[in-house]
Amino acid sequence: MRQFVCPACGAANRAPDGKDPKAAKCGRCKQPLFSARPAEVDAVALRAHRAGTRGAAVLVDVWAPWCGPCRAMAPNFAAAATSLEPDVRLLKLNADAEPQAASELGVSGIPALILFEDGRTIARTSGVMSAPQIVAWTRQTLATSGDRS
Ligand code: ZN
Repeated sequence: MRQFVCPACGAANRAPDGKDPKAAKCGRCKQPLFSARPAEVDAVALRAHRAGTRGAAVLVDVWAPWCGPCRAMAPNFAAAATSLEPDVRLLKLNADAEPQAASELGVSGIPALILFEDGRTIARTSGVMSAPQIVAWTRQTLATSGDRS
């Protein structure tokens, strides 16, 4: 059983086996569960995605509007969503708007990527990456993270 959190309303949605989650709509607000692009989150929404995502990973891009490298990486991160969804939920956290959340994640330099599985941090990296690098890093990390059943 996989479970995904709706980016629009934050509701946890169970995805039936054998159905493509990318075609699924939220049971509460009827918005698509996936849109092939990263979802902007605040601290509360990030917590909901970490707690409510099951059988899939969560990848967070921590960025800030004044950060040139962050802006340079934004289209790469967005492009990575098309290949990583629905195995990975891609989120963006604005460190300026959510400094407490960014600091709790242990972020020192941005752009930073943090990968969660079952709510736990399993890997982090920082610096500008291309879309293929983001996809490769994420898949490689998940492949070696142990139990993926
Ligand atoms: Zn919803």
